Amino acid sequence: MRWLVAVGLLALGGEAQAQRVFPGGPAFPFSDSAVVIPLGTGTPVPNPERSGPATAVVVGRRVFLFDAGAGVMRRMAAAGLPIDGVTAAFISHLHSDHTLGLPDLILTSWVMGRSAPMRLHGPPGLRRMTDHLLAAWAEDTIVRVNGLERGRPGGYRLDLREIREGVVHDSDGVTVTAIRVPHGEWEHAYAYRVEAAGRSILISGDTRASAALERAATGVDVLVHEVYPESRIAPENRPGGELWPRYLREVHTSDVELGRIAGSAKPRLLVLTHVLFMGASEEEIIAGIRRGGFTGRVVIARDLARY
Ligand SMILES: [Zn+2]
Ligand SMILES: [Zn+2]
Repeated sequence: MRWLVAVGLLALGGEAQAQRVFPGGPAFPFSDSAVVIPLGTGTPVPNPERSGPATAVVVGRRVFLFDAGAGVMRRMAAAGLPIDGVTAAFISHLHSDHTLGLPDLILTSWVMGRSAPMRLHGPPGLRRMTDHLLAAWAEDTIVRVNGLERGRPGGYRLDLREIREGVVHDSDGVTVTAIRVPHGEWEHAYAYRVEAAGRSILISGDTRASAALERAATGVDVLVHEVYPESRIAPENRPGGELWPRYLREVHTSDVELGRIAGSAKPRLLVLTHVLFMGASEEEIIAGIRRGGFTGRVVIARDLARY
């Protein structure tokens, strides 16, 4: 269904670029400062209050998206962000909770008007994943292009880069650096540090406590980090559940560990996301952060908040 309303052409970097937003949403752009918007603060648990992992960093009219969990395009619309594509997207690792929204991001932005290839960065294996996704929806793209919708041929294309650690984006005052992090058996998992408009933001992706991340997070304005409560480590009552404590320690970061990391890195604001609550309250998680030694500002992220 095509129901789009053109919102005009805007000069950007010498190029005319249209950006479409969901009608009636919040005003866009917000400011020239780099604004962090957790679009999805959830985990694999399909919590209707917390969409799948996705974080936007908005710099003026440019939108940088980190991970594409389930529900990402509806959260983009709710946040007032363009629905016809982002400036660049970055995937932390290929776990399904971080990538289930990729076909949504790729195909919905095309149906909403994207005609240029979307810049997508991520670990080795991402190209294979997106090749399969586009193959899976081949019937859809054929019908949309050749049928009465007259979809733009090739508008679903990607400008895809499989990355290693280091600077992966540097354009018009925005730098994104990938930091390799340890995440269980995953060979390639990245945190990303963003420098833009005088702010520095580090987004952890999924990681166990990481010295490399701690170094990269030193003095950042905002540290967005995953976490679970150390006090709730216990075997689970299911086949393989005896491995759960080991899984947590090797794959994710506890509140006490994160408190120690933040106590050393000293971010101006610590934003907790991808929280595996495991029955703990928000207060218990914050108490764990304090036990680890962080005394600065800490919040548990909410979908669509702004930091
Ligand atoms: Zn995850
Ligand atoms: Zn993961």
